[in-house]
Amino acid sequence: MSDEEAFDAFRMIRWSDNEGEPYCPRCGCVALYFATKRRLWECKACKHQFSITSGTIFASRKLPVRDYLLAIAIFVNGAKGHSALQLSRDLDVQYKTAFVLSHKLREAIGSVSKGSVASGHVEIDGAYFGGYVKPANNKDNRRDRRLSENQSGKRRCVVIMRERHGRTLPFVFKSEDAAVSTISQRLLAGSTIYADEASCWDVLHARYLTKRVNHSVCYSDDDCNTNMAESFFSRLRRAEIGTHHHIAGPYLNAYAAEMAWREDHRRVDNGELYLMAADAALKHAVSRQWKGYWQR
Ligand SMILES: [Zn+2]
Repeated sequence: MSDEEAFDAFRMIRWSDNEGEPYCPRCGCVALYFATKRRLWECKACKHQFSITSGTIFASRKLPVRDYLLAIAIFVNGAKGHSALQLSRDLDVQYKTAFVLSHKLREAIGSVSKGSVASGHVEIDGAYFGGYVKPANNKDNRRDRRLSENQSGKRRCVVIMRERHGRTLPFVFKSEDAAVSTISQRLLAGSTIYADEASCWDVLHARYLTKRVNHSVCYSDDDCNTNMAESFFSRLRRAEIGTHHHIAGPYLNAYAAEMAWREDHRRVDNGELYLMAADAALKHAVSRQWKGYWQR
């Protein structure tokens, strides 16, 4: 792509609701001046000046727009995620740039399902990530890592609600049983829950029709199973082991949201995925968490 083509591609995606014709992000006015050389618009009504990326997740960008399109295309192609180091080599930018850029993309695609509720036939399960304690070299120095005083306290539980033939909503808690109140808020009454034998789900029987499967007996009892939920965890675990090597900590929810997005759109071709991710990024407001991250 030439710079001109990349700019037009960006414009068509950002203002897709107006057939690619830009309008003022502040007042919605379509009458604009365009400074051809600086590629800036100025609103005739409120005099607000804006560029192709201002007010989006790519605000204050320093790279050419073409590189952002390339970054999105590379990012969506990784079935189990794409590491920041790899992206930095692909784009020929610093690791820090690639790290923040991929987190901005995660925030954008994760925001699509933010605040939404699940309904219908919903599978619920939890899995633990992070807080690995390495055993000491000498056998005499090794401690029992099952005891809580020998753990790091960094382990977190990803709990998901996955609609059958629908969306995947991930949450992060300290333990599986901490998820119960969130589930009652984010799951519509009248839904059917499928869960495993973990006793923390017992209280959900009061509110929902709940079907349980005992994994020590079988993994699926007719249609009663949590296999869709396990599929999600499989992808997240493979992203942890194979791609990122370490995904726990404060950004675990970002990785979980990314993998939920990938899982939900696993049958969508990558051209469509590219458009969806670009659309989410350009419709997302400036990231409060990631803008100026390395400048604190
Ligand atoms: Zn305006």
